[in-house]
Amino acid sequence: MKTVYVDNNATTKVAPEVVEAMMPYFSERYGNPSSMHFFGGQVQKKVNEAREQVADFLGADPSEIVFTSCGTESDNAAIFGTLDSYPEKRHFITTRVEHPAVMNVCTYLARKGYRVTELSVDREGRLDLDELREAISGDTALVSIMYANNETGVIFPIEEIGQIVKAEGIPFHTDAVQAAGKIPLNMKNSTVDMLSISGHKLHAPKGIGVLYIRKGTRFSPFIIGGHQEKGRRGGTENVPYIIGLGKACELAKKNLDEERTRVKALRDYLEKGILERIPNTLINGDRENRLPNTLNVSFEYVEGESILLLLSDLGICASSGSACTSGSLEPSHVLRAMGVPFTAAHGSIRFSLSIYNTKEEMDYILEHLPPIIQKLRDISPFWKDYLKSQGKG
Ligand code: PLP
Repeated sequence: MKTVYVDNNATTKVAPEVVEAMMPYFSERYGNPSSMHFFGGQVQKKVNEAREQVADFLGADPSEIVFTSCGTESDNAAIFGTLDSYPEKRHFITTRVEHPAVMNVCTYLARKGYRVTELSVDREGRLDLDELREAISGDTALVSIMYANNETGVIFPIEEIGQIVKAEGIPFHTDAVQAAGKIPLNMKNSTVDMLSISGHKLHAPKGIGVLYIRKGTRFSPFIIGGHQEKGRRGGTENVPYIIGLGKACELAKKNLDEERTRVKALRDYLEKGILERIPNTLINGDRENRLPNTLNVSFEYVEGESILLLLSDLGICASSGSACTSGSLEPSHVLRAMGVPFTAAHGSIRFSLSIYNTKEEMDYILEHLPPIIQKLRDISPFWKDYLKSQGKG
């Protein structure tokens, strides 16, 4: 069966160049980078090279790069590592639309007696920066706000937010897991103190991440163990994956232009085609400030899960809400926070593209999606009620 993979915010294909770079480090050059002998030394050299590639991609210094196991660990390390460094402060600020890697930490923190402020978003998924200004207090230990939303692709004004936060002398973390590789990130002259990225969202393997920690930022290690990562993250380095991530960052830097132009054009083509062919369809998220690859669209009066299954039967892989919330029939917390009406939030589908997608694939989706929606609406009592209310029933 033909496979059209448009679920790249869930995970991406590992680039062939990345696989090639990793291969020797499984079975030929398997040394431990901490070993004194030449066999470990040559691996250490390669890990350093990867650190430089990641630093170059982020406009950072190599010493500011800490390798972790995933985006979730990076987010957890940033939050717990900062709160541990400011034990006297008991307030944490974030948003209502974060990934569970931050959102569920908030639930934990609230249980432990922290005061947690979750900033609201408007109908387009945008923040009100005055709400942030008002939330900040002398007790605030950390502000953590995502760079771009995984479900809608909405990009937050991170530097503007950082200016507000830094003016109060508060550490600022951003979850850039979805932004990395899709829009430029530059930590030079940035207001960001800590930033999370994850390999599998940018054509490196699953199970590798990075926490960027600006020089001078107070931080206690989240994973305590050996001296690795300058004492900021214990555990023998995941050498092949680190090397793969380095290569992926090098490629991502080169491909940013293509994301901004060709990938965005494909996404816009798909969006326009859907809106032209299918009535009662809404685009979710600020269309002016959105990742170039992401399209979140609601088909009123149908179930997103049913759409996904019928698309999947045709080889089309998309997502309803984030991968981590699928399996639950509750509409996504992001769309609920945005106030998307119930009848639309339930029928939301996320298409997320990558440089490996083609126009033919978009045409394949545009050919098959309209009859799927029609078929589901034909059996939907809500659609029938709607038609009646319009005098068309
Ligand atoms: N943060 C965001 C915004 C994400 O989209 C994801 C994954 O979907 C994560 C964090 C978690 O990353 P990982 O899967 O590497 O743990």
